Amino acid sequence: MNRNDVQVAVIGAGSIGLAVAYYLIRKYGVSRIALVDPRDPMSLTSAQSGENYRNWWPHPVMTAFTNDSIRLLEEIARETGNRINMTRRGYALVTRRNDPSDLIADLYQGYADESETHIRIHKGNGPHVTYKPAVSAAWEDAPKGVDVLCDQTLIRQTFPAFATDVGTVLHVRHAGSISGQQLGQYMLEMIRAAGGQLIRGEVVAIDGASPFDLSIRTHDQVISLRADRIVNAAGPYLKDVAKLMDEDLPVSCVYQQKIAFEDQEGAVPRNLPFSIDLDGQTLNWTSEECAILAEDPATARLTEFISGGIHCRPDGAEGGKWIKLGWAFNERASEPREAEPREDYFPDIVLRAASRLQPALRAYVGHLPRGAHHYGGYYTMTEENWPLIGPMRTPGAFVAGALSGFGTMAACSTGLICADWVMGGQLVPYARTLSPSRYQDPAIMADLAAAQNRGVL
Ligand SMILES: Cc1cc2nc3c(=O)[nH]c(=O)nc-3n(C[C@H](O)[C@H](O)[C@H](O)COP(=O)(O)OP(=O)(O)OC[C@H]3O[C@@H](n4cnc5c(N)ncnc54)[C@H](O)[C@@H]3O)c2cc1C
Repeated sequence: MNRNDVQVAVIGAGSIGLAVAYYLIRKYGVSRIALVDPRDPMSLTSAQSGENYRNWWPHPVMTAFTNDSIRLLEEIARETGNRINMTRRGYALVTRRNDPSDLIADLYQGYADESETHIRIHKGNGPHVTYKPAVSAAWEDAPKGVDVLCDQTLIRQTFPAFATDVGTVLHVRHAGSISGQQLGQYMLEMIRAAGGQLIRGEVVAIDGASPFDLSIRTHDQVISLRADRIVNAAGPYLKDVAKLMDEDLPVSCVYQQKIAFEDQEGAVPRNLPFSIDLDGQTLNWTSEECAILAEDPATARLTEFISGGIHCRPDGAEGGKWIKLGWAFNERASEPREAEPREDYFPDIVLRAASRLQPALRAYVGHLPRGAHHYGGYYTMTEENWPLIGPMRTPGAFVAGALSGFGTMAACSTGLICADWVMGGQLVPYARTLSPSRYQDPAIMADLAAAQNRGVL
C-alpha cells in the first residue's frame, strides 16, 4: 500500500469536514483517513459562527436533524467534562403581535408528535403559571420544548430589558450556545490520535471515480493522493469541488455580518437568552439621513422595510461583558473568491435595529466602543435552506455542506449521517430528504416550495 493511499479523503477541515472524519473513526473505525485543507482547521466560515444552537424549526425533518445533533453534542459534553462549553438559556423569539397564530402553527408543525408535551402556552400571570425562566446556564437543568408567553406582565417580569410593546415571547428551551472552536479542536485531536492525517493543501483536480486520484497543491508542490471515497466538505467552495467532478450543486453563498463588543453600559443582562426580534422594521432615520441613503443605490434599501431576525446575546462568561449582535438580512448571493462584501455601515444598522427591542442599546448608536469587532462569513445555502448530505452523482463521492447558518449546531448529525452514507451503514429515516436525491422527489420539493418560513436566522 502506498503511504498516500487512504480509504476516505475529506476535502475541507471546517466544522463539517472534521465531524465527518470524527464519526467515520468513532463509529466505523476508519483510520486510513485524510483531511485536506490549505487553511488552518476551523478558520474559514466555522471561525465566524455565532455558536448558537436550537431545535426550533418550521419543519419536523429539520427539528429531528438538529435534535439528533444536540443529543450528540450532549454526549461529547458529558464525555469531556463540558469542554465544548455547552449552555442552555434558550432562544427568546419576540414579536409585538398578541396573537401570532402563524408562529404558533409553525411550532406545532415543527414539534409534530411531541407538540402536546413540548408546547406550553402561558396566557395569564399568577401562581398557576408553570413557566420558570432559566435560573442557570447549565444545559442539564433546562426543560425541553417551548414556553409561549402571551401575558405582558409575565413578559415584563421575565425580560425587563425588552421594550414594553412586546406582545408575545416564544421561549425555545432546547437551545443555547456551544464553543464550536473547542468542538472542532476536540474532534481534530481524536482524528489525529486515531492516525488520521491532516494534509495542508488545496484539492485542484479529481480524477476517476472510486478509487480517486486527487491532486493537491501544497505551498511548494502538487502531490497526489489516492482515495477509495471522497467527501466534499468545502463550505463556500462546495460548488468548485463539485466542478472538479463535472458536477453542479444547487448552492449559493450569501454573506452575513455580526458585531461583538464590550457592553460597558451593561445594556444586555448577562442571563438573557439568545434574543431575536422577529418583526421587520423601517429604520428610524431623520429625513436628511434618509435622503442621503436613498441617493446611493448601495444604501437605498436601508431606507425601506427590512424583514426581522435581529439577534443579540451575551457572549462568554456570566461575569464578562461582551455581547454579540447580528442580522441576516442580506439575501444577495456573492462569489466567495472575491473580496468579502463587508459593509462599514453594518454596525450602525444592527444597533439601531436591535435597540427597538432592547432600548438600552441605543447608547451605542454612533458610539461603538473601541475594540469592537465587525466580522462576517458566508451562509452556503440551498434555495430551501436545507443541507446537502449524501451521495453525489459520481460513485464514491459524497457531499456534506450547505449548512447555511446552522452548521455549528448540526455538525455532529451531519458528520454521523455522512459517515453512514460513506460506509453503507443504517441511515436515519430522514437521511434521504437531506441528500441531493431529494430534488428527484416531487412530494418533498412541493412541501418545501410551499413553506412560508425557511428557518433562516
Ligand atoms: C456570520 C455567521 C454566523 C453563524 N452563526 C451560527 C450559529 O450561531 N450557529 C450555527 O450552528 N451555525 C452558525 N453559522 C453557520 C456555521 O458557521 C457554518 O454552517 C459552518 O461553519 C460551515 O462549516 P463548513 O465546514 O461547511 O465550512 P467552512 O468552515 O468554511 O470550512 C470549509 C473548508 O473547506 C476548505 N476548502 C475549500 N475548498 C477546498 C479545496 N479545494 N481543497 C481543500 N480544502 C478546501 C476551506 O479552506 C475551509 O477550511 C454561522 C455562519 C456565519 C457566516
